[in-house]
Amino acid sequence: MYLGIDIGTSSVKAVVVDADQHIHAAATAPLAVSRPQALWSEQNPEDWWAAVEQAIAELRHKAGKAWAEIRAIGLSGQMHGAVLLDEAGLPIRPAILHNDGRSHAEAADLNSKLPGIGTIAGVPAMPGFAAPKLLWLSRHEPDVLERARHLLLPKDYVRFRMTGGFATDMCDASGALLLDNAKRQWSPEIAAAVGIALSMLPTPLEGSAVSGLLQGAVAKAWGLPPGTIVAAGAGDAAAGAVASGAVNEGDAFISLGTATQYFVARESYHPAPEHLIHTFCHALPGRWFQMAALLNGAGALAWAAELLGRDDIGRLLEDTERAFTGPSPVLFLPYLSGERTPHNNAHAKGVLFGLTPATTPEQVTQAVLEGVALSLADAQGYLEATGQLPDRVAVNGGGSRSRFWMRILASALNKTVLLQEGSEAGPAFGAARLARLAATGEGFTQVCAKPAITAEIAPDPALAADYARRLEKFRNLYKALASLF
Ligand code: ADP
Repeated sequence: MYLGIDIGTSSVKAVVVDADQHIHAAATAPLAVSRPQALWSEQNPEDWWAAVEQAIAELRHKAGKAWAEIRAIGLSGQMHGAVLLDEAGLPIRPAILHNDGRSHAEAADLNSKLPGIGTIAGVPAMPGFAAPKLLWLSRHEPDVLERARHLLLPKDYVRFRMTGGFATDMCDASGALLLDNAKRQWSPEIAAAVGIALSMLPTPLEGSAVSGLLQGAVAKAWGLPPGTIVAAGAGDAAAGAVASGAVNEGDAFISLGTATQYFVARESYHPAPEHLIHTFCHALPGRWFQMAALLNGAGALAWAAELLGRDDIGRLLEDTERAFTGPSPVLFLPYLSGERTPHNNAHAKGVLFGLTPATTPEQVTQAVLEGVALSLADAQGYLEATGQLPDRVAVNGGGSRSRFWMRILASALNKTVLLQEGSEAGPAFGAARLARLAATGEGFTQVCAKPAITAEIAPDPALAADYARRLEKFRNLYKALASLF
């Protein structure tokens, strides 16, 4: 049995996975985000720990006898956030999260100070990443940086509480934008540019490496043997890929959650920073990945459902599917939360275009599904410019629950969409796979196999042609409005 823990933004998810890679038990505990000022997004590291303990207590109860058979633990988590600890290992201030936009000026400064940063670290600086946040702190809260002795990524704070050690994995290290991704080592150049000592940074490890052992007091509280192996694990993008079996050249998957990632595994490092494609280290040795990171996804559907006063998303989708006759006459730009790939525009906004007195709620809902699909098709174009993509792409995350949406997506991407068994566990399942690798030393191609396919949704040629035309209009609409946001 292997335990995977994923410290997400909205919840902690934990799973126990058995030797046949079936999910034996799962538990979650909610997390809240604090937005004390416009563009700010923070969480208290102590809240992560409390949520982990809550999820573990529930999971232990659900796992029953299997709990005693847990051999190793793997961690996954939201990427890019900055956690600063003092000499005593205490958080100095709330963690600044991936979706915090305060450091846009510092990101721009970093890009002009170090024009090669996108080649070293896989993508130019953007406000989501830890590096520009450090520069922001040096300007706005210098006392915090003076007191800081350790910088950690979110899940690595939980590791510190579990093992007492300071370590991270290669994917999360990349996502801090402080790693030399070709060498898989911290970049002295970037550290110097943001003004921090390399000694502040945790040890970067391959995700399948042992990062430490469970400390006595935590082991006792959790009912596990002291000294249980804690694997390095992975930032959630790579952990989701490990779960989906996207570990070899060209393996692709889309995570359609609140936000969206389009991920392709690569066996060599070829950054394409000009397209705002992220080229980061995968959590496995000798592997990298390219990713389009979209800030909007199924979250846009949740927004539309709320706006239309429909609290049952499933029913709303059924009604929309029943009314479907072809592409919606309404076009939706889904940039409710700004956009990262391909625009790097924190000020971009959502747009509904083409409304008339005859526009129906179903047409608007369909436009939202199509707008998210078209934004993925747009990003796919940039990903394709960096290297070949397969004809089949796995999709997971909340949005993949809708077969109707998956049909729209398959035609918008002009690719066959695959649904996989167990995909709802996502990164927590990937973390458990990395725990197994750390404990057994097995080869990753074997353990990180692709889960069984539960559905294949092929593109409809006529609809694909319609969406290819809509994509042109979608791109032109953004271009026309970009200066007005
Ligand atoms: P997160 O990224 O926060 O973990 P999830 O992967 O859990 O998100 O997905 C949550 C999203 O799933 C919501 O934003 C919602 O719009 C979407 N969703 C909920 N029910 C359905 C459904 N039946 N079909 C498609 N999408 C759904």
